[in-house]
Amino acid sequence: RAKAGGRDRVEVFDEALHAQALQLLEMESDLRRAMERAELVPWFQPIVRLSTGETVGYEALVRWQHPQRGVLSPAEFLPVAEGNGSMEALDWAVLTRTLEVLSRLLMPGQYVNVNFSPRHFRSPGLVERLMDLLKAHQVLPSQVRIEVTEGALLENAEKIGHVFCQLADQGVMVALDDFGTGYSSLSYLHRFRMHTLKIDRSFICDLSPHEEGRSTAVVRAILALSQAQRMEVVAEGIETEDQRQALLALGCELGQGYLFARPAPLLAREPGLDGRLQECAEGC
Ligand code: C2E
Ligand code: MG
Ligand code: MG
Ligand code: MG
Repeated sequence: RAKAGGRDRVEVFDEALHAQALQLLEMESDLRRAMERAELVPWFQPIVRLSTGETVGYEALVRWQHPQRGVLSPAEFLPVAEGNGSMEALDWAVLTRTLEVLSRLLMPGQYVNVNFSPRHFRSPGLVERLMDLLKAHQVLPSQVRIEVTEGALLENAEKIGHVFCQLADQGVMVALDDFGTGYSSLSYLHRFRMHTLKIDRSFICDLSPHEEGRSTAVVRAILALSQAQRMEVVAEGIETEDQRQALLALGCELGQGYLFARPAPLLAREPGLDGRLQECAEGC
C-alpha cells in the first residue's frame, strides 16, 4: 500500500504537470489565432504635462480581447509569447494596429510610444521594416517612439547602439523604460542615443511633497543625470496629487498614471476631440 501510495503521488504530480502543459499549449495556439483575428489590441494611456495636465502623447499597451475570457492584461499572456517566440510578431501587430488608428488618436504635435521587446534588437532589418511600415501608413517618424527596457541594452551593446543611432538618424526617438529597476548602469545613458528616460513607478509610489524620503533622493538624482544628458524624463505610475506635487517640485515635467487616466481602448467611432478614449475603461 505504501508503495502504491508513492506511485499514486507520482501520478498525481504527473497529471498536474500534464494539465499545466496542456493549458500552456492551448494558450499558445490561442495566442497565434488571436493575432490572426486581431484580438490583440492596443489600449492607450496619456502622457501628460504635469503642470497643466495637457496630453503630449500616449503609450500603447497591448490587451487581448479574448472571446471567452474577456480582456486579458499583458502579464497574463506576454510570458507565453516570450516563451513560444511570437513576441516580435506580437509587437509588430500592436504597432501596425496603432498606426492604423493613429490619425484618430493623435492631435498635431502628439506622439505615441510603443513597447518593443529586447528580442527585436537581435533581428536584422528592424529599422528598415519600421520605416517601411511608417511610410505605408503615412505616419511621420516623430509621431512614434520606441520604448525598450534596460535588459535590451545588456544583450548586444554594440548592435543596439548602432540600431539606436539609425533610429535617431531617421527621426524615431527611443525611450528607456522602467529606469532604475534593471541593471541600470549610468554609463548606458552616456553610451546609447536615447531621447527619453522613464522613471519606474516603484520610485514614484512613495514620493511626497511633505517629506524627503529615499525615493525623493533617487528621483532627484535621475533628473539631474538626465538633464546632464539632455534627456527628457517621464515619471510612470503617478496615482496621487501628492506624487504630482512632489515631482513638480523636483522639476519633473512629464508623467503618466492613473491620476490622469488609465489605459483605455480607442472608441470605434470618434465622438469629438475630447473623450476619444473610452472613459475609465479599466478597473473602475
Ligand atoms: P510598461 O511599459 O512599463 O507600462 C506601464 C504599465 O504600468 C502598464 O501596465 C500600465 O497600465 C501601468 N500603469 C500605468 N499607470 C499606472 C498607475 O498609476 N499605477 C499602476 N499601478 N500601474 C500603472 P500594463 O498595461 O499591464 O503593461 C505591463 C507591461 O507589459 C508594460 O510595462 C510593458 O513592459 C509590457 N507591454 C505592454 N504592452 C506591450 C507590447 O505591446 N509589447 C511589449 N513588448 N510589451 C508590452
Ligand atoms: Mg512602456
Ligand atoms: Mg514602464
Ligand atoms: Mg513596466
